[in-house]
Amino acid sequence: MSGGAAVARWPDHVSLFARRSGEFRPSPVRAVFEIAMRPGMISLAGGNPDMGVLPHDVIAGMTARILAERGPEVLQYGSGAGIGRLPGLICELMALEGAETTPDRIQVTAGSQAGLDLVTKLFCNPGDVVVAEGPTYVGALGVFGSYEVEVQHVDVDEDGFDPGAVAERIDELRAAGRTVKFVYTVPNFHNPTGVTLSEERRRRLVAVCAERGVLILEDDPYGLLGFDREHRPPSLYSLDPATVIHLGSFSKIFAPGLRIGWIAAVPVVRARLQIAAEAVTIHPSVLGQELAAEYVGSEHWRPALDRAVERYRSRCAAMMGALEEHMPEGVRWTRPAGGFFTWLDLDPAADHEDLLDRAVRHGLVLVPGGACYADGRPTTSLRLAYSAASEQEIAEGVRRLGEVLRG
Ligand code: PMP
Repeated sequence: MSGGAAVARWPDHVSLFARRSGEFRPSPVRAVFEIAMRPGMISLAGGNPDMGVLPHDVIAGMTARILAERGPEVLQYGSGAGIGRLPGLICELMALEGAETTPDRIQVTAGSQAGLDLVTKLFCNPGDVVVAEGPTYVGALGVFGSYEVEVQHVDVDEDGFDPGAVAERIDELRAAGRTVKFVYTVPNFHNPTGVTLSEERRRRLVAVCAERGVLILEDDPYGLLGFDREHRPPSLYSLDPATVIHLGSFSKIFAPGLRIGWIAAVPVVRARLQIAAEAVTIHPSVLGQELAAEYVGSEHWRPALDRAVERYRSRCAAMMGALEEHMPEGVRWTRPAGGFFTWLDLDPAADHEDLLDRAVRHGLVLVPGGACYADGRPTTSLRLAYSAASEQEIAEGVRRLGEVLRG
């Protein structure tokens, strides 16, 4: 270097990070992604949908046609409100869970993860509290932490969490001078426990929140993945579309790689969410939205979804059978009626400190339960996903888990 400014010292990047960065959490699934790819490993960690059921030729043809007919438009910047026909189609999907809504209440997002982020960004100040199931979706903990929002858990049983306990918690927090903006819930085939909020509890939850002026953030990526298609509980949104903000997604009913989801909210909220979304992604992929609208609006979608649900049902049954066979005394698990996950409560008397490491040594990857609590408590539970593994892998994976737990 000659004559220029002195070479700057390497900046201490870490000390320059914003305070909220300390609350960023790596996903426990992504953290073990590389390990899960090793030969011979069985992964019951990731809640990936099965892409094998999709009619790939049909989808390839649709994509080619969209580009051939409307290439310049689809490859250009689009509207922050989403492509014209998608919100109407989303209203039809929401009607399958009993909701009556209109396109002016739908904000298309880059996946429901982005929806979760946008709603938290719009409503929560640092120090606000969100009440959520305990355990809860690990990706939601990452979002809440990044806005310096505290999470208060209310325990779940086989019917979800108890609205009376939720109301009590809100009242206690308020009495202590805290601000609770919303209750976050995954009412259908909960991630991570697999349980479903009963209909009676849905009605009470909406009532206790409405009485208190607290919103409900209903995160519902699995609602159409129930094993019993005849009986679908009403979405919380269908019970009270003013109190409830609904997050939906094409990830589990079509393809997560497209990154297309939505938020349903009253128009004043939707309009603000659009502005917030435009500041981050401008808009979700136009091609992705076009393909979602084309495919989910076609006669191909429903049969492929039915095939997927059939597959998840058999895999769930395989997992239940394998757990019966291989789990030692003292282990209990949930019996999901849909979705991707079951949750195991382990023998509290045993030491599960290095469970993940021991499982990896036995050729198995899973999500330790502590990751699904805001306080990252010690592992006395774990999440198993049956959505992405074959029945043989499930049987062998659970057999290995039995070995791990027996030490
Ligand atoms: N919420 C829940 C409860 C989930 O399980 C997931 C995906 N694992 C998401 C949100 C994020 O989904 P998306 O692909 O729509 O962003």
